[in-house]
Amino acid sequence: MKRICVFCGSRAGSATIYAETTRDLGRAMARRGLGLVFGAGHVGLMGVLTDAVREAGGETIGVIPQSLVDRELAHASLTDLRIVESMHDRKALMAELSDAFIALPGGFGTLDELFEILTWAQLRFHAKPIGILNVNGFFDPLLAWIDRAIAEDFLKEKNRELLKVESDVERLLERLLTSEPGASNGVL
Ligand code: AMP
Repeated sequence: MKRICVFCGSRAGSATIYAETTRDLGRAMARRGLGLVFGAGHVGLMGVLTDAVREAGGETIGVIPQSLVDRELAHASLTDLRIVESMHDRKALMAELSDAFIALPGGFGTLDELFEILTWAQLRFHAKPIGILNVNGFFDPLLAWIDRAIAEDFLKEKNRELLKVESDVERLLERLLTSEPGASNGVL
């Protein structure tokens, strides 16, 4: 495994634990030689994460649509900045460049990215591991919704395993790194 794509908030959240844990993740990735692929923003948890990876000597690859570059939202100092046409192109390239995915706390954008990559895994378009870092119990309501979707037969029980949930940075990285490769039809 070479690179992990991290989806996270363009805001930093109200509690300091969100930025602190994000910083821990960035340092742990750099320590393990895992590059970061992300949405290239300099704001919120995205900015915190990138600065932590960069300061620890790790690789940072940002993928951003031209429209957000025009709004001066791209991080100025990355190993590599890929500018694409659209949000759809961005998600496809982020997925292609990465060997695993992590979602940190965030808003609509973070959940959009997480659910798209989960849906592609459910369809076996890829078999790359996906995890969420459940900082401060932030994702508990989402996990409760997943339980309900399974209970009411909207989601197969076995697809719950597509999402690895941990509140500890090292444990999450370990699970992603040691996860058994699943089935993929190679679309992605
Ligand atoms: P959100 O969770 O709504 O804050 O959105 C964060 C996610 O959407 C990130 O993982 C980015 O890929 C993308 N995104 C949203 N806002 C921005 C922004 N201002 N600059 C760069 N990427 C953004």
